[in-house]
Parts: sequence; C-alpha cells; structure tokens
Amino acid sequence: MTATTYLITGGCGFIGSHLTDALLARGDAVTVLDDLSTGRAANLRQSAAHPRLHVVQGSVLDGLLVDELTHQCDVVVHLAAAVGTRLIADHPLRSLTTNIRGAETVIAAAHRYRRKILLASSSEIYGKNTAVPLGEDAERILGSTAVARWSYGTATAVDELMAAAYHRERGLPAVIARLFNTVGPRQSPAYGVVVPRLVRQALAARPLTVYGDGTQTRCFVHVLDVVDALIRLLDEPLAVGQTFNVGSAEEVSILELAKTVIELTRSSSPVEMVPYHEVHEKEVYERGFEDLPRRVPDTSRLRALTGWRPTRNLDDILLDTITDTIRETARGKSR
Ligand code: UDP
Repeated sequence: MTATTYLITGGCGFIGSHLTDALLARGDAVTVLDDLSTGRAANLRQSAAHPRLHVVQGSVLDGLLVDELTHQCDVVVHLAAAVGTRLIADHPLRSLTTNIRGAETVIAAAHRYRRKILLASSSEIYGKNTAVPLGEDAERILGSTAVARWSYGTATAVDELMAAAYHRERGLPAVIARLFNTVGPRQSPAYGVVVPRLVRQALAARPLTVYGDGTQTRCFVHVLDVVDALIRLLDEPLAVGQTFNVGSAEEVSILELAKTVIELTRSSSPVEMVPYHEVHEKEVYERGFEDLPRRVPDTSRLRALTGWRPTRNLDDILLDTITDTIRETARGKSR
C-alpha cells in the first residue's frame, strides 16, 4: 500500500502538530502549511527530521501556494485559523480574513483537484446554546456582533456552510469536525485558554485566576483523543458529507479544575476569583466578554460511525499538560 499524502494547514499548531506526528507514525506522508503566526516550528520537533514530512512556511491566503500544495497531496486537513480570545479581540480583521478567506481558498483548491477535505470547526458555532448535550443539529444562539466571541463563531459557521455547499452542489468530499475544549501538551497559554493558563500559574506559584464564581463547566478532551477521532473520520468513507462533534462528556467546573491543577502540581498557589466585570481589565478579554455557563457535546454520531470514545480522563490530561509545561520551561531556561 502506498502512503497517503496529507496536506495539513496549521500543522505547526497545537492540534495540527499532534495530527502530523500521528500520521507520520502510521506511515503516511505529511505536507504542513503554516504561517507560524500562532503555530510554532518547535511543535514538530519530534518529527522534524522525518523523511516523509515537508514543512512549508506560508499562508492559507496565498492562493497559488495553496493550489500547488493541494495538487501535490491526496487529502487536505484544514486546521489553520486565527484562534484564541486575545488574538480575535485584538485583530478582528486579520482573524476574519484568515478564517473566512483562508477556508474558502483551501476548500476551493480541494474542489479543483477533487481532494477529500476534513474541515476543523468549533463548538463556538453553537454560541450560547447550553442544551445538554449539544447534538450536531442543535440551534446556534449568538449574541451581539460587537462581541468578538460571536464573530469567531460566525466565521467558523461560514466555513462550514461553504464546505457543505461545495459538497452538496459540486460533490466535494468534505467532512466537518466540530472540536470542543481540546487540551494537552503544546497548547499555548498566550490566547487565554484556561488549562495552559492555570497550569502555568500553579507552576509559577502565582494565583490561579478563576473567572466569575467558577461554577461554569466545561468538558475537556485530550488532544491525542481528538487526533484519534480525526484519523478515524479521515479513514471512514461514510463520514463524507457529515458533521461530527468531537469532545468529552466529562464535565468539570472551572473552580474544581483550578483545585485539581493545584493538587496535581503540588502548588502553594491560592485560587483568585476574578469577577467578570474585572476580567477585561486584568486579563486578555475585550470589554463585554461573554462567558458560557456550560457546554457538553453529544458525540454519539461519531461513536456510532467509528467506535470512537475518549480514552483519557481529566487527570491524564492535566498530568500530560503539566509534564509538558515543566519540560518546556526547562528548555526555555537552558537556551
Ligand atoms: N477561565 C478562567 N480563568 C482563566 C481563563 C479562563 O476561569 O484564566 C474560564 C472562562 O471564563 C471559561 C472557561 O474557563 O468559563 C473556559 O475558557 P476557555 O477560554 O478555555 O474556553 P471556552 O470558554 O472557549 O470554552
């Protein structure tokens, strides 16, 4: 059997780099396209010298480059996006352009060369819908356009609609994966996501910032479980034309999360409750930041088709993240 060549946009990012490692490990070839805006070359450290890895630094907005790389590959995985609350609030124009025009460029190229494409989407498209669990057909409940959070969800929904329309009207083999709170090694703390922030705070003996009253919950899934789901979807012909939630159903409150991080790091840090109205002053969020009280995915569609279920629990996720953070910090110091 000859190796399949995957084009992974955003392959130097948190999820893309783990997917790249996994595809190379099973014998496939990977071309990574990444502009290194939020991704880091160091994320591919373990595969850097791999003979079947080809890394191209460039943008998904570069139509000629995307065309050429798509032509040379068999399957496209589109993960490149402007992510993170801070980036989206600080650079709304760049984020919208990257997320909408970037996806359009990649989807159109996949169609031009009749390549299968897996498009990474996000639980953000459900907006404020707190139904439990959220099925793929759940309603999208969005707030004001003045709040950056909803502009990200809207851009992501546009990407999905585009892929779905290309599938329906032009026969593009497209699969959509909606990722819920994915965490684990290599996730950057720079964009406001909770787990890498709390872990770094605990390891530095700084207070762990818990927003609001900490009763809001999330379900965290290990990035390697997400990679497993993506590979199952890529390998399953019946996934084409469908949308799948990917996430865990293990719900934890953010206060409980902070306490677990303190326990697992054996940190002396206290928990600092930060009222929402102070969050924008102290932290990375824009004024008018809206939080979600709950978000629980229904992943039965994915399980029914591929047999997938997450294999790592919250402690596994946190311990892996803590170990990785300690290693990264040591590397930074020795440089
Ligand atoms: N959060 C927090 N402290 C932080 C960062 C985030 O309490 O330092 C909270 C945030 O308000 C939200 C939850 O953690 O309720 C998850 O936030 P994240 O940005 O990771 O994911 P999302 O809100 O997109 O699910």
